[in-house]
Amino acid sequence: MSLETRRLAELADHDAFIKRHNGPSQDDVATMLKALNMQHMEDLIEQTVPSDIRLGRELALDDPRSEAEALEYLAQLARQNRVTKSYIGQGYYGTHMPAVIQRNVLENPGWYTAYTPYQPEISQGRLEGLLNFQQVVMDLTGMELANASLLDEATAAAEAMALCKRGNKRSKSNVFFVADDVFPQTLDVIKTRAEFFGFDLITGPAEELANHDVFGALVQYPSASGEVRDLAPLLSAAAERNIMTCVASDLLSLVLLKEPGQLGADIVVGNSQRFGVPMGFGGPHAAFFATSDKLKRSIPGRIIGVSKDSRGNTALRMAMQTREQHIRREKATSNICTAQALLANIAGFYATYHGAEGLRKIAGRVHRLATLLAEGLKQASVSLAHDSWFDTLRLTGVDAGKIHGRAMTHDINLHYFANGDVGISLDETTTAHDVATLFDVLLGDEHGLAVAVLDEQVVANGASGIPAACQRESDFLSHPTFNRYRSETEMLRYLKRLENKDLSLAHAMIPLGSCTMKLNATSEMIPVSWPSFAHLHPFAPRDQVAGYHQMIDELSAFLVEVTGYDHLSMQPNSGAQGEYAGLVAIRRYQAAQGEGHRDVCLIPSSAHGTNPASAAMVQMKVVVVECDQNGNIDMADLRAKAEQHRDQLSAIMLTYPSTHGVFETSVREACKIVHDNGGQVYIDGANMNAQVGLTRPGDFGGDVSHLNLHKTFCIPHGGGGPGMGPIGVKAHLAPYVSNHVVTPINGVNAESGAVSAAAFGSASILPISWAYIKMMGARGLREATELAILNANYIAKRLEAAFPILYRGQNGTVAHECIIDIRPLKAASGISEEDIAKRLMDYGFHAPTMSFPVPGTLMIEPTESESLYEIDRFCDAMIAIRDEIARVESGEWPLDNNPLVNAPHTQADLMDSDWQRPYDRQLAAFPTAAVQAAKYWPAVNRVDNVFGDRQLICSCPSIDEYRN
Ligand SMILES: *Cc1c(COP(=O)(O)O)cnc(C)c1O
Repeated sequence: MSLETRRLAELADHDAFIKRHNGPSQDDVATMLKALNMQHMEDLIEQTVPSDIRLGRELALDDPRSEAEALEYLAQLARQNRVTKSYIGQGYYGTHMPAVIQRNVLENPGWYTAYTPYQPEISQGRLEGLLNFQQVVMDLTGMELANASLLDEATAAAEAMALCKRGNKRSKSNVFFVADDVFPQTLDVIKTRAEFFGFDLITGPAEELANHDVFGALVQYPSASGEVRDLAPLLSAAAERNIMTCVASDLLSLVLLKEPGQLGADIVVGNSQRFGVPMGFGGPHAAFFATSDKLKRSIPGRIIGVSKDSRGNTALRMAMQTREQHIRREKATSNICTAQALLANIAGFYATYHGAEGLRKIAGRVHRLATLLAEGLKQASVSLAHDSWFDTLRLTGVDAGKIHGRAMTHDINLHYFANGDVGISLDETTTAHDVATLFDVLLGDEHGLAVAVLDEQVVANGASGIPAACQRESDFLSHPTFNRYRSETEMLRYLKRLENKDLSLAHAMIPLGSCTMKLNATSEMIPVSWPSFAHLHPFAPRDQVAGYHQMIDELSAFLVEVTGYDHLSMQPNSGAQGEYAGLVAIRRYQAAQGEGHRDVCLIPSSAHGTNPASAAMVQMKVVVVECDQNGNIDMADLRAKAEQHRDQLSAIMLTYPSTHGVFETSVREACKIVHDNGGQVYIDGANMNAQVGLTRPGDFGGDVSHLNLHKTFCIPHGGGGPGMGPIGVKAHLAPYVSNHVVTPINGVNAESGAVSAAAFGSASILPISWAYIKMMGARGLREATELAILNANYIAKRLEAAFPILYRGQNGTVAHECIIDIRPLKAASGISEEDIAKRLMDYGFHAPTMSFPVPGTLMIEPTESESLYEIDRFCDAMIAIRDEIARVESGEWPLDNNPLVNAPHTQADLMDSDWQRPYDRQLAAFPTAAVQAAKYWPAVNRVDNVFGDRQLICSCPSIDEYRN
């Protein structure tokens, strides 16, 4: 570095953020290297990352920017977005996120940094929030069961199609019917899914639904163009013909409309966005999925259920499907893993805060304004396509060009149908003044209509766009939860009370292997709330979203450089969705080469469950490749299977470094074997945190990878979502990644259908990853990777005497995570990996990943963000727990009564007047000095999973059980 550059760098302190993101200090690094008997970081990396895949240079990225500079640059991009008044609708609506929810949930690390609630004892807060969400969905849809969110409405509809096929034992048909008046993006995604599931599709007017021999059907209610039709006759005709029915609907409309469950729907799906979640240029928001009781065992996604704890108290947890992919793999019913937990919580809280009364007011106002607009238009002799509506009108026979011109001068977006009709959707943010402006836009200035006069007429005549048969008659949200928190003070305390039940990164490290729970920096999070990112409709005209496009293009370019691929598709909104998108691209490419018959997918036995589940979704046949005793892919087995299937080989799905926490030295060769036998290489990028700046999947043989931006690139986990799973592809696959029917994407084949509802998935959280890369720069990113590897190796070193490390690389090092084997201990002592996981809660920690990828083990991933102080605290806890196990082994403590099997300990335990335990209360709840100084209390005792699965209850518990 020249003297001048160094001076300037010092003056600007560009790399200050690197020290904030990376936990270990220089001294920490020296201490850890010393513990490993190493001199330099480079020694560790050389011994860990195979030399034949090393990048050998710094990534070509801009110099790091300070937090202030990055935010300033993003603000410039944001200013290139124009927030206009949107009446586009089509599944995305204006809404007011209550400020108490924005500040205390969306912008609160206590909520957004939590993990998926696999450890229920330390997750009761978000589990209750998600249970509320399920209850809201069940009440409004009139269904018996709802899950705790899917990725978006379009994929929820596609999941519904798959569930119809699985659940409909009576129909032999292979055809699915989609009404022609559904959202175009929903049809787009369904087309892609149907093609690769091998289903045929029929589209037609909804009233023809029962005229076809189909296994299932989808209708929208209200329809995409706003019609509110009594579906009961159609749905019952369908049931008579053994057709399962799915209704796509809208929660706010259902406040006033008869529930689809009452009308006879088997499945109801939709988007909960307008319950307080900004449009965000397409996401993230939580889709909902509700079914009748008979489908409960095959519903996709996570379901929160009620169970009890070891004291017999009510306790919540994820019900049976929780680990479905890991258990059923290619026989799983869906590949959904990360969903939209944070947004589901927000939507549930929106309903909690407003209650039935508030929701009726909001929906009633929206409907009254829509009715008033309709009346005015009728008086001005404009014809409407439908004589029913909730919030959306479709104007026909109008001069769309003129309207468009006037709309532009008023900064108003409308929906323009291909045939020249104009669509207008009102929402919670629409005012009477807005409707007056709409009259000007739609009719020109001379219309002479007065909103106040029209409103008087509407009210006096009792005018309504909802047909009598479609009026809602039943009550909803009668549970106390939805009636208690009307004042902001009450709501604030409710949110805080729930937050306090949960353990998040705001308390301690969350060493979950494969999940990469690293810092989600505040500076990265701030732009997500900016109106010029939050309030944009995904179908807004291109010139209004220039800032988004530039930000996405820049992020794509960063990620292309990081991965070594040629092109990036930003559409998939989870890792599993990225796997699906990547495999779809492979199948499309192979079909275009005349190789469409290739359908064998090789998957190592160590793979994450989503891999085989995704392969099954594109009708690939999964052939499992074995691992050797060191955890590496058995190369002989790989070669034999690739050659055996060479005429059918479509792809391999590899995770690198492997889920066993090692950089396999033979990865290049593995890729070559597959290529030589005609297959494509999918590299699961979930472990990218061990690669960034050191090696690139695109260089060592990958054709396509997904990146979990919610792991490696700092998007917070949100308690189970949101996420983003963009895929990097080599040039030959680029034309085959997903396009979008409403907002086409440059450089992608027009006929490549979508995998997500929005062109860029959950676009509004992309500034997080953009800011991370911008603030770290090439050196910061590489150092982060090196520190992630150092931290993991230091943990392996500190724990190896207490717990055997299951797998190591050639030189005895591990990658960015390590697996400790609990099986020998369990055999000797009877104490299980689960007991250790629960006991860690008493020490104030979240457990490592349990029993994945190897049953009976714990997988620890510290990430680069944890300091030596925190890592030592964790290792101290693990070693102390090992000593406790020794006291069980020695017989000092009985196997059925010791601090491990009784863990976690609650305040109720300590208050127990009848303390019948061979250890004292101090050891139970305050085993270390750190815990004495700052105690996190698990809210419930150990949760009984079996009880909850046997009698599945997924609604809010009865009032008696609810006194807390
Ligand atoms: C997390 C993970 C996935 C799935 O990603 P989601 O975003 O949860 O869908 C796939 N593979 C591996 C190895 C993972 O760790």
